[in-house]
Amino acid sequence: MKDHLNLVEHPLVQHKLTIMRKKETSTNSFRRLLREISQLLAYEITRELDMTTCQIETPMGPMKAPTIAGRKLALISILRAGNGLLDGVLELIPAARVGFVGLYRDEETLEPVQYYYKVPDHLESRLVIAVDPMLATGNSAIAAIDLLKKSGANNIRFMCLLAAPEGIAKMKAAHPDVPIVTAAVDEMLNDIGYIVPGLGDAGDRMYGTK
Ligand code: URA
Repeated sequence: MKDHLNLVEHPLVQHKLTIMRKKETSTNSFRRLLREISQLLAYEITRELDMTTCQIETPMGPMKAPTIAGRKLALISILRAGNGLLDGVLELIPAARVGFVGLYRDEETLEPVQYYYKVPDHLESRLVIAVDPMLATGNSAIAAIDLLKKSGANNIRFMCLLAAPEGIAKMKAAHPDVPIVTAAVDEMLNDIGYIVPGLGDAGDRMYGTK
């Protein structure tokens, strides 16, 4: 991907996102829509995967057919809201390897605190897609990508649903080599680090917690 910021303006994505933003949308619908949007975002983020060919036999005879080159890609969910995106992407790319980064946000400092880290091997030779629905302050995404780079990842993309200008700028400064794919860029962060107008707390909305 050439650009640092990639906005997916497809009408299906935008329509589904509007329903997700509505405060009356149920947990059930929110989760289903997130799964659907994640597949459309995954379609975009994998558009330029390296391809090769393999020799196959169709019922009509031999052919050299296109196939994705290299190792299976790695999907990294930034817990816990990342799992909502992960579920959908895995439906589209079922052979992907999966890792988890557990970070919670200290509500006073807004800084990420790590509590879990488990990722696939050979990250250095995989496309690594880190997923988290909300790029707000950017602190969690930056910390997760720091960890992935320490594990050898050198071809990383970040997928989210909503991004705040503050988070985008911070990510660009910390990880200019990591393209962001998002469905929308909202106005701003409020004073407790939530995206406005946003959709509220993505984890709470997808799991029905408060
Ligand atoms: N995390 C969320 O779930 N929502 C926000 O608006 C910001 C961070």
